[in-house]
Amino acid sequence: MLETRNLTKQFGALTAVNDVDLRIERDGIHSVIGPNGAGKSTLFHLLTGYLEPTNGEILYDGEDISGLAPRTIVTKGISRSFQISDLFDGLTVGENLRIATQSLDGNRNSMWRNADSLSTTEQADALMAELELSEFAETRADALSHGDRRKLEVGLAIAVEPDLMLLDEPTAGMGKEGSVRMVQTIRRIAAERDITLVVIEHDIEIVMQISDRITVLNRGEILTEGEPAEIQSDEDVQEAYIGTGEEA
Ligand code: ADP
Ligand code: MG
Repeated sequence: MLETRNLTKQFGALTAVNDVDLRIERDGIHSVIGPNGAGKSTLFHLLTGYLEPTNGEILYDGEDISGLAPRTIVTKGISRSFQISDLFDGLTVGENLRIATQSLDGNRNSMWRNADSLSTTEQADALMAELELSEFAETRADALSHGDRRKLEVGLAIAVEPDLMLLDEPTAGMGKEGSVRMVQTIRRIAAERDITLVVIEHDIEIVMQISDRITVLNRGEILTEGEPAEIQSDEDVQEAYIGTGEEA
């Protein structure tokens, strides 16, 4: 579905993403893990057009999308959430979701076919219910709990009906229980809507539980890639990452 070739991003003398060949298969959850500063967020910024590669290509369904603007990439079916909040604080939960839903330009085929006949409001309401945020429909975003804000951020990324969704630490700052519940909710909604997920997640237990494939980044390079069991038993990974007890 998505493939990078020699993808590289330099900030001055620092190579944050170094010659990365990444392959994302359609369906399921592909996690990207690695120590702080490994280049995970930079990789996501490249894939979604927020940064321009220094070198290399990004192919989406075979089409080179490197260098396209974020809004163009969204219309091709790729959406994302940010590590740092991107909500309209002064607007309610319902308003945030309606704006995101409305931003669909209608040019591309919707994967959410059953809902095609629904109005913007109905679509936003349905999503709000699935996210278990309905009770906060009239609540301003800045009055939500941290966990519910994070959920709403993911909701905005879902509302644009992507085929591929990239989530940068969706559970950052949440407790273990809340994180697990949130990830399960995201996984269920994504499966129902045929959304392929790429997730940066720092909790290694959650990563092992939810992922179909895992890519380990270290110092901007792919250290290894595989299924959870392979990654868990990889000595290089344990050395670079798991054994350190550091945050991802
Ligand atoms: P991660 O998300 O894995 O923690 P990042 O992608 O945020 O890592 O950062 C990778 C490296 O690139 C870090 O050393 C970081 O300081 C650096 N970096 C990230 N963004 C910029 C930027 N806009 N300008 C300069 N350096 C940056
Ligand atoms: Mg990051």
